[in-house]
Amino acid sequence: MKALDELTFDNRFARLGDAFSTHVLPEPLDEPRLVVASKAAMALLDLDPAVAQTPVFAELFGGHKLWAEAEPRAMVYSGHQFGGYTPQLGDGRGLLLGEVYNEAGEHWDLHLKGAGMTPYSRMGDGRAVLRSSIREFLASEALHALGIPTSRALCVIGSSTPVWREKQERGAMVLRLAHSHIRFGHFEYFYYTKKPEQQAELAEHVLNLHYPECREQPEPYLAMFREIVERNAEMIAKWQAYGFCHGVMNTDNMSILGITFDFGPFAFLDDFDAHFICNHSDHEGRYSFSNQVPIGQWNLSALAQALTPFISVDALKEALGLYLPLYQAHYLDLMRRRLGLTTAEEDDQTLVEGLLKLMQNSGVDYTLFFRRLGDESAALAVTRLRDDFVDLAGFDAWAEQYKARVARDGDYTQEQRRERMHAVNPLYILRNYLAQNAIAAAESGDYSEVRRLHEVLTRPFEEQAGMEQYAQRPPDWGKHLEISCSS
Ligand code: AMP
Ligand code: MG
Repeated sequence: MKALDELTFDNRFARLGDAFSTHVLPEPLDEPRLVVASKAAMALLDLDPAVAQTPVFAELFGGHKLWAEAEPRAMVYSGHQFGGYTPQLGDGRGLLLGEVYNEAGEHWDLHLKGAGMTPYSRMGDGRAVLRSSIREFLASEALHALGIPTSRALCVIGSSTPVWREKQERGAMVLRLAHSHIRFGHFEYFYYTKKPEQQAELAEHVLNLHYPECREQPEPYLAMFREIVERNAEMIAKWQAYGFCHGVMNTDNMSILGITFDFGPFAFLDDFDAHFICNHSDHEGRYSFSNQVPIGQWNLSALAQALTPFISVDALKEALGLYLPLYQAHYLDLMRRRLGLTTAEEDDQTLVEGLLKLMQNSGVDYTLFFRRLGDESAALAVTRLRDDFVDLAGFDAWAEQYKARVARDGDYTQEQRRERMHAVNPLYILRNYLAQNAIAAAESGDYSEVRRLHEVLTRPFEEQAGMEQYAQRPPDWGKHLEISCSS
């Protein structure tokens, strides 16, 4: 276990130099205080969890102090936002403080979001508000607990610094961890600004540090792109299987590691709704729940375009062609497991689609349906779940198909079925209204609800005593919350 001053830095991205990032010091928050910390994320840095309670922790992650070895940098990138190219973006309010190695030899970027203005702030104030910092923190740690690749969050630091959004709010910082903060938009920036030398340097950097096994392949860059396609297909399959809506899948928010990244007005589905749009400024539904699948491919094509100096167009096209079949295979595999099936049959896709259509028409809770389906034998469970559906004849027909499919699947006890299904079907997810309750309390200075909710979400598959209130459908007020897009 390490103390805070024992972290080991090796700032490889900073060493790429001024063409890639700019040195900027964090702008401290007034009266920094710990809102919440993740013990699991602290363990990634070998940090003793007790250090979160020390004043120096809030000072470090509230922008007051820096390690001597840290080299805070704002990264430059660009990207396609809602389909249109923006020639220059960059870290407008976040800083890469440095890269830290843990004892296992893994390196982690320390990225402080809300750290003040940078050369890339454009019209922004460089700040993040408490509300959005708490949402990013909870989502990162909740997605991780569900087994969905994501950036992690070490802590949220609150403050008395006023920040103006639709109304006056308080500034906060979230410390984000990831093996890399390089986005699709990094490659696009050097491609569209016609800087081939820097672009080659960036590609070498990513290949050497993050895809070293691709070096062994005849065409290392192509192998790396294929790997990026595969990882994104798998990540998005998991989003779809668990009902996660990212909300702002711009190419500057897509990680070259295939992890969920840069949380905005995201949401987990309550009722199943394929057309759900969580971002209220997304008037055309470009990033609606079901559109995330084709948008994943669109974003990969944007990255492919930026890689044309290194890889032939035909090879890029072929690699892009892997995306949909891989997505489909991962998605179907997960949905089979959510249905309690251990074997694969041709018609399973139809079984899944049939169920989703019925859920869509009846507004059935996406998370609780699967959890309850595993509570009892297939026959008993469908009898009990039937009341949630409006189209009873339709549901009965589906239930018959499902029971027959389960009977063909194998011979196991209900105990085995429950255990297997509960291990993939969470009881607790980060519902918007739960986040909203925790945020309202935190905004009035009480952080206990954020901490409790975070604790519950770190073990989403395990029924926890006294936590029934976190496993409920939303009350009426919490069903269609307008989550502000400002952050
Ligand atoms: P996002 O939609 O949060 O991914 O941000 C898109 C771009 O706007 C990125 O370059 C951000 O750094 C920048 N940005 C967002 N909010 C702010 C802010 N409050 N101050 C400065 N830059 C910001
Ligand atoms: Mg972003």
